[in-house]
Parts: sequence; structure tokens; C-alpha cells
Amino acid sequence: MAIQPPGGTAGGINDLYQDILVEHYKRPRHHQLLPDPELKSEGFNPFCGDRVVFTARLDGAGRISGVGFTGQGCAISQASASMMTDVLQGLTLDEVRGVVGRFRAMMQGKVLSEQEKEALKDLVVLEGVKQFPVRIKCALLAWSALQDALAEYSKSRNKLETST
Ligand code: ZN
Repeated sequence: MAIQPPGGTAGGINDLYQDILVEHYKRPRHHQLLPDPELKSEGFNPFCGDRVVFTARLDGAGRISGVGFTGQGCAISQASASMMTDVLQGLTLDEVRGVVGRFRAMMQGKVLSEQEKEALKDLVVLEGVKQFPVRIKCALLAWSALQDALAEYSKSRNKLETST
């Protein structure tokens, strides 16, 4: 990347964010699907052809014990999925819903507290995307898949409970 002039500018910060995004895009974390996942879903964004398949496994205590995804598409969609898998590990499903809510709020323009930002880790670099409404869909693709997977999972759980 280009060397920034001393003193720093807003452009410098954006470059740093850009680097983190590209790094996730080039070397996505948890980039494989898990066998026998409790949570599984697929998202597709026809706007730029982004696709994400998301899987997660739960341990006996109902916490996320493993996550994985595959997909292809633009850098924002794939980096967002990679960053998302980084924050989900070890969370309960209620905590996962909290993270989804915070991320969506950030993309809708809500200013998050420092604490909320910390919980989102690298995902805060996607905040700048909110200026580009078309790209918000890309950033949210993996999250929509995650929410579908959560909904599907609670539905199947309810079915199990009512049938016994
Ligand atoms: Zn996209």
C-alpha cells in the first residue's frame, strides 16, 4: 500500500480498513463447511452474484463450537462472512442474535459505543460501507444467511419439542 504522509489523515484510516478487508477476502477465516451442522443456510445476492453458505455446530451447552462458510462474490460479501465467523465462536444463540442486531444497527447508521465496537472486532471496518446503499446488501449477505439458519434451527427445535 502507499505510504501515508506523517500526521495521518482520514484517508489513512480508510486505507487501514481497506487492508483488513482485503486480508479477510484473500485469506478468509473458517473457510470450509462443517459436517453435520446444527445450523446451515445459504444466502444469495443477485445484485453482484455474491453467494455464502454458512454452517455452525453447537456444543451441549448450546454454544457455537464451530463455524465454517464457503462462498464467492465481491470482497465485501466474503470479508464480511469471514469476519462474522471470527466473532461467533463460543457464543450462545442469544448472544449471536445480539451481535447480529449490533452489526445491522451499525450498517443502518447507528453510532455504537466503544464496548459494542469491541465486540464486533474487525467488523467495524465495514462501517464505511453504509455510505454505499448497494453494497450494504453485500455486507449483510452472510448475516442474513446466519439469521435464516437461526430461524430454521428454532423452528426444528420447536417441532421436536411439540412432537414428544
Ligand atoms: Zn457484493
